Amino acid sequence: MANPMADEMRRFKGSDEKNPFEAMSERFDRAAQLLGLDPDLYAVMRVPSREIKVYIPVKMDTGHIQVFEGFRVQHNFARGPAKGGIRYAPDVTLDEVKALSAWMTWKCAVVNVPFGGGKGGIICNPAQMSEGELERLTRRYTAELIDFIGPDKDVPAPDMNTNEQTMAWIMDTYSMHARHTVTAVVTGKPVALGGSLGRREATGRGVMFTVNEAIKRFNLKPQDTSVVVQGSGNVGGIGAELMYDQGYKIVAISDIFGGIHNSNGLNIPEVMRYLRDNKTLEGYPEAEPVGNKELLELECDVLAPCATENQITSENADRIKCKILAEGANGPTTPKADKILHDKGIFVIPDILANAGGVTVSYFEWVQDRMGYFWPESQVNQRLEEKMVASFNELAHYADKHQVDTRTAAYMLAIDRVAYDTRMRGIYA
Ligand code: NAD
Repeated sequence: MANPMADEMRRFKGSDEKNPFEAMSERFDRAAQLLGLDPDLYAVMRVPSREIKVYIPVKMDTGHIQVFEGFRVQHNFARGPAKGGIRYAPDVTLDEVKALSAWMTWKCAVVNVPFGGGKGGIICNPAQMSEGELERLTRRYTAELIDFIGPDKDVPAPDMNTNEQTMAWIMDTYSMHARHTVTAVVTGKPVALGGSLGRREATGRGVMFTVNEAIKRFNLKPQDTSVVVQGSGNVGGIGAELMYDQGYKIVAISDIFGGIHNSNGLNIPEVMRYLRDNKTLEGYPEAEPVGNKELLELECDVLAPCATENQITSENADRIKCKILAEGANGPTTPKADKILHDKGIFVIPDILANAGGVTVSYFEWVQDRMGYFWPESQVNQRLEEKMVASFNELAHYADKHQVDTRTAAYMLAIDRVAYDTRMRGIYA
């Protein structure tokens, strides 16, 4: 199937291997082809429904006005409101946001939550902005998008450099316009303002639930399973802590500056305490230092890249030695690397399933807000487990049935669901 977006993709950040839009589209095309997707539906689904660009004037602390550029892309509404984070970064681009919004559509469809995909971004450098400037930026961005977001339209969430405070500002600004409190307009809010218990841990916990299922295919028990984790933030750090509690042997973990390795297993609660106290893993006793590049190539049963994109490429894929690759991060593996991993027999838990615990509990948060009735954390975690286990098994079954790798299966399953709903709804004219 021809790919008319190729030129646009190539311009993205100047590199084939570093282009998430290209990675997404390449996989979409392959899955669409295998599904024999109707060309009319293909044409509808490969483009976003709406791309919004806003210019945001903000009064800076100096008294001068600076105008920022912001985006919100709503990729697909076939199955429900758009859903996805907002990132603040100096180098965020519309193409990047477009790719991320499409990923959200497929992710929500893989775990079968009734959302479409969306993503937002503002070109800014939050590290150089005061709290007041960030608040004014966030509120004006929300006001510019006021007609396009809402519990039934598009539900933003935190992403890179945005957090629960950002969500509280968006919720408040939206509520001031609506003249009443609308908690369900965003997820990832503070628990006291309608956030869900268990949301903070949900992505790492979801990674663990999918790993629990994957190791059964290798007749492994957690205590026999060695795990290497790249990244020690919300996904990697929490995922490692939860897996450690289940008895997994975490042999290496890293942050952006490098990692630590101990083949007998690390005491993860102590490692995380050390990281909190020292802001680095460097110098942690009872472990050897290891670079992020070498860490990926360590002997282990499970490798969980939970840091950033494009970590496993055609350059290093051949040296990856795990049995299971659990993609906590978004897009950690390039399409070229996929084939190499497949030929090596590595079982991949693709990102759009492995890290979908976050959006699943975001869905639970939205449900709780709309009911005005909040669940205990045990219930959130139990429902998350049910969702992740069912989605994993559906995906594994689909891959076996169609004789495709798990990533292709995830895209096929997602595209099939969105295509079915699009076909049933028909095209309004
Ligand atoms: P985070 O900022 O909390 O942690 C990121 C970790 O990765 C940190 O330890 C950081 O030091 C490390 N890191 C950053 N850049 C790196 C690099 N170039 N090399 C090695 N390590 C690096 O972020 P997070 O929320 O844990 O997100 C991690 C990944 O998971 C991202 O790809 C994100 O899009 C994805 N994700 C996050 C969530 C969520 O709920 N937080 C949900 C779905 C997907």
